[in-house]
Amino acid sequence: MYPATTLLFIDGAWTLAAAGATLPVLNPATGTELARVAHAGTADIERALAAAVRGFGIWRKTPARERSRLLNIAADRLLARCDEIARLITLEQGKPVAEAQSEVRNSCEVLRWFAEEGTRVYGRLIAPRVPDTMQRVEKQPLGPVAAFTPWNYPVAQAVRKVAAALAAGCSVVLKGAEEAPASCAALVDALAEAGIPPGVLNLLYGEPAQISSYLVARPEVRKVTFTGSSAVGKQLAGLAGAHMKRVTMELGGHAPAIVCADADVEHAATLLAAHKFHNAGQSCIAPTRILVQRPVATAFTEAFVQAAAAIVTGDGSDPATVMGPLANPRRVQAMHAISNDAAAKGARLLLGGEAPARDGFFFAPTVFAEVPLNADLMNEEPFGPIAAVNGFDDLEQAIAEANRLPYGLAAYAFTRSQLTAARLADDIETGMLSVNEYGLAYAEVPFNGVKDSGYGSEGGSEAIETFLTTKFVSQRHL
Ligand code: NAD
Repeated sequence: MYPATTLLFIDGAWTLAAAGATLPVLNPATGTELARVAHAGTADIERALAAAVRGFGIWRKTPARERSRLLNIAADRLLARCDEIARLITLEQGKPVAEAQSEVRNSCEVLRWFAEEGTRVYGRLIAPRVPDTMQRVEKQPLGPVAAFTPWNYPVAQAVRKVAAALAAGCSVVLKGAEEAPASCAALVDALAEAGIPPGVLNLLYGEPAQISSYLVARPEVRKVTFTGSSAVGKQLAGLAGAHMKRVTMELGGHAPAIVCADADVEHAATLLAAHKFHNAGQSCIAPTRILVQRPVATAFTEAFVQAAAAIVTGDGSDPATVMGPLANPRRVQAMHAISNDAAAKGARLLLGGEAPARDGFFFAPTVFAEVPLNADLMNEEPFGPIAAVNGFDDLEQAIAEANRLPYGLAAYAFTRSQLTAARLADDIETGMLSVNEYGLAYAEVPFNGVKDSGYGSEGGSEAIETFLTTKFVSQRHL
């Protein structure tokens, strides 16, 4: 049952905004209002921050093993509610229930992995220059964190930040996505019910710019972590820089996928189609610029279009649906604009290119070939179900195209040659490369970009590090 109003969570209690304001939440499969979400004002933001400061005082002194125990209980509670939370995700965000269930299960894994990793935060001893002296390096939690997460994976994006921060001993003010609030609130509920002390985790919804400009500027906030577009990320990183705040920025991508002539072409086409259209293409690591070596271009393109054409689009609540609607009307408008621009600039439309005639925020799986480099599709992150398939002659050309854009988040390659794979791993400017598979975004592996795609990892032991500071203590024994 979707809650009539998703509440804020401040200092251990669920609450309406002090001023009583709310925002609408839409069901993207119908375009109609589903429910409301509380809209925090300055008084609520202030209260959440004060609670996070108190919470940090408690949490930093809580032994890592106890923090770990609570995170594991939260994972148990989340898993127990997997089907119910998945239905919330489908209603508010649109993705098919099976995809939503896998989002919840993956989020449980993230909680468990960081629960364990938090118990393995070690310092070190440095050989002293004089006798009877100890020189030690301690890793300490940074302090209260302001975290901003988007609507494409409303639970999975939040859990990456929250689990790593809490495992490291930081407290958090989380601003979830207003468009998909109830599932993120269910994550916070699981942590609260597990016994996380009041103030350690707070949840706000409201006007994103108002909340971020307030929190980032406040001296009590020691770290800012944001997932969203490169444009907003640059604004927030600039503000954080002005206030000397540590940041993690997980921003946009425009992933190249290089399919070499020696690849398993059928495998590449099936895998890339599945992952391009997963979550209706609203993923920062979705393969978008598919570059195929000319001898296999026709075979690949036919197989890719066939796989894309077989995708059943519909309401995510229908078990037959493989691809749901886009999350909001802005994405549908963006798909029309990108598609029309590609066609006008001479790209060959092979599939889709239009919105099906039905209510809701739908756009068909779309494939263009021979897309000119000046088309928006080859430059702007589509963040939707549109793929470009272009040919290349030699590897140099493919690498140059992969590196042409300011983005550098994920990249994919398909080849049977170890030499080619090693060359691509060396030369592609990317935070993550997956060869002959789609092996990214597990809890235990780094997840980060380079260039305009941001910096700071959201996975692996690197993610815990981003919430820790180094303290050096030199002590003469008297
Ligand atoms: P947007 O740039 O307005 O918002 C993206 C996210 O940032 C949203 O969750 C929004 O609430 C938040 N946001 C916006 N302004 C903010 C601010 N001043 N302070 C704090 N948070 C702020 O765009 P949108 O229309 O919601 O999404 C479209 C674009 O966002 C996509 O093209 C994609 O590039 C990017 N995006 C990326 C991811 C990701 O996983 N990296 C997720 C969602 C959206």
